[in-house]
Amino acid sequence: MIRYALACDKGHVFESWFQSSAAYDKQVKRGLVTCPVCDSAKVEKAIMAPQLSGTKKRGEASPPQEVSSSATATPPEAPAPVAMVSPQERELRKKLKELREHLIKNADYVGQKFPEEARKMHYGEIEHRSIYGEASPDQAKELNEEGIEFHPLPALPDERN
Ligand SMILES: [Zn+2]
Repeated sequence: MIRYALACDKGHVFESWFQSSAAYDKQVKRGLVTCPVCDSAKVEKAIMAPQLSGTKKRGEASPPQEVSSSATATPPEAPAPVAMVSPQERELRKKLKELREHLIKNADYVGQKFPEEARKMHYGEIEHRSIYGEASPDQAKELNEEGIEFHPLPALPDERN
């Protein structure tokens, strides 16, 4: 079987299978090969078509892949959370920052002693005051279970500490 890319006299390009090139010649001469679009029997081999469709397929499919894979050099990553910030949120963020700065300015930094200090205050061992520091998730859970009220320091989205 031979596959030929054919074109009718109106320019429709289509493909058809033939037993041989001789069979193709015979069928075309007898008007047995017709265009599937317009039914025209005036068909001939589309000289450009086989190469064109071949290069077209290669041209369309692989270069973008090659470009993207070599350009990024990494497999596609999972989408990361992104946000557009509205003016209101920008204002809120500013307030959050102010609150955070106020807390930091007016509270004692106790670092990793936070759970200990918080506990002492809760049980009346030391005077109540504003403190801030670090607590691991486990420590935070324990404090919470003991009924010690504390709040996470407001963190800004783009700050790590
Ligand atoms: Zn046609």
